[in-house]
Amino acid sequence: MKDETLLITSGRPGPAHFGAVSTPVYRTSTILHETLAALEGASQPFTYGRRATPSTRALEEAIAALEGGARTVLVPSGLAACTLAILSVCGAGQHLLVSDGVYGPTRAFCQTVLKRYGVETTFYDPLIGAGIAGQFRPETAALFIETPSSLTFEMPDVPALVAAARAHGITTLLDNTWATPLLFKPLAAGVDLAILAATKYIAGHSDVNIGAVTAAPGHEKALVETHGRLGLTVSGDDAFLALRGLRTLALRLARQGETGLALACWLETRPEVARVLHPALPGDPGHAVWRRDFSGTAGLFGIALAPVGKPALARFMDGLELFGMGYSWGGFESLIVPANPVRTASTFAADGPLLRISAGLEAPEDLIADLSAGLARLTAEG
Ligand SMILES: *Cc1c(COP(=O)(O)O)cnc(C)c1O
Repeated sequence: MKDETLLITSGRPGPAHFGAVSTPVYRTSTILHETLAALEGASQPFTYGRRATPSTRALEEAIAALEGGARTVLVPSGLAACTLAILSVCGAGQHLLVSDGVYGPTRAFCQTVLKRYGVETTFYDPLIGAGIAGQFRPETAALFIETPSSLTFEMPDVPALVAAARAHGITTLLDNTWATPLLFKPLAAGVDLAILAATKYIAGHSDVNIGAVTAAPGHEKALVETHGRLGLTVSGDDAFLALRGLRTLALRLARQGETGLALACWLETRPEVARVLHPALPGDPGHAVWRRDFSGTAGLFGIALAPVGKPALARFMDGLELFGMGYSWGGFESLIVPANPVRTASTFAADGPLLRISAGLEAPEDLIADLSAGLARLTAEG
């Protein structure tokens, strides 16, 4: 079955739901059992609300089908998906390799909590490719990849990273929030745990924080056990919203990817813009890797402005009417925020301010008009 069809057919309710086409929201902590044997038996599909309800199970099954995974678990945020995946693959005395282009809060988790529990993290240049093998130590347990890099949009060579890790028995984790499994399938590329901030494109309506981790066969046991021991759970309401979003993911992502690329192409022609960071642009340094590994583009990208003062930048951003200034991305509405990447193992140079743009579902012409007026304010006398 094609992904577009899976998005529609997976995670649908069984006959117990009177023919309802959407799995209802189950709000329950307690599941009652008819008999002592049932209570104590292992055959019940649901035992306790924290562990699963039909609402959360439906979303898990839909994401697992899309990822081609053995098992998906849900967590209360995308960040929790990153931290759970890491906690499930390493312990005290072990070593973790994390991309220097990783989502900032994932970096902070490694540097604080993980360090406190005796796991050492080394950050690697996201463009290191097969050279990653030079960073492996006997105690290296896992390699954390993110593609493209948060804020800077570099494209790591995932097949080269995975091949090196596999050759050394090192578990691979990949934050695939940008592409979603529609544009890139981590497990098919040999990754062991695929991570999604479903808050972004999966839910797609800026109304919920939720995350998912999907395990390749053989990796589900440690994931499910760690998830259960940590007591992580997601409400039926949040699972329902994410599953409703998932039904239209293919349409939204295609349109937002198209709009984002149209904005990127237009921005490339503007003298106020020093560089556009978008792997689907033919001139982008990551373009060849993107073309080889991904089947399409998302609508999130970066721009580096030509050097400009803070007051002018504020005039540009404060006056935008369609681009909201706020964190997160992948929702129906266009967003713009300043981006300040932190790098410790590699460099990312930009002379002017770096901005991140999430293309929404508005008409591209209107978005371009908004940016055009903004760039005129940027260079106008203050
Ligand atoms: C937003 C984001 C997350 C975290 O998702 P939240 O739901 O905000 O916690 C993780 N990884 C990436 C790449 C993200 O962009």
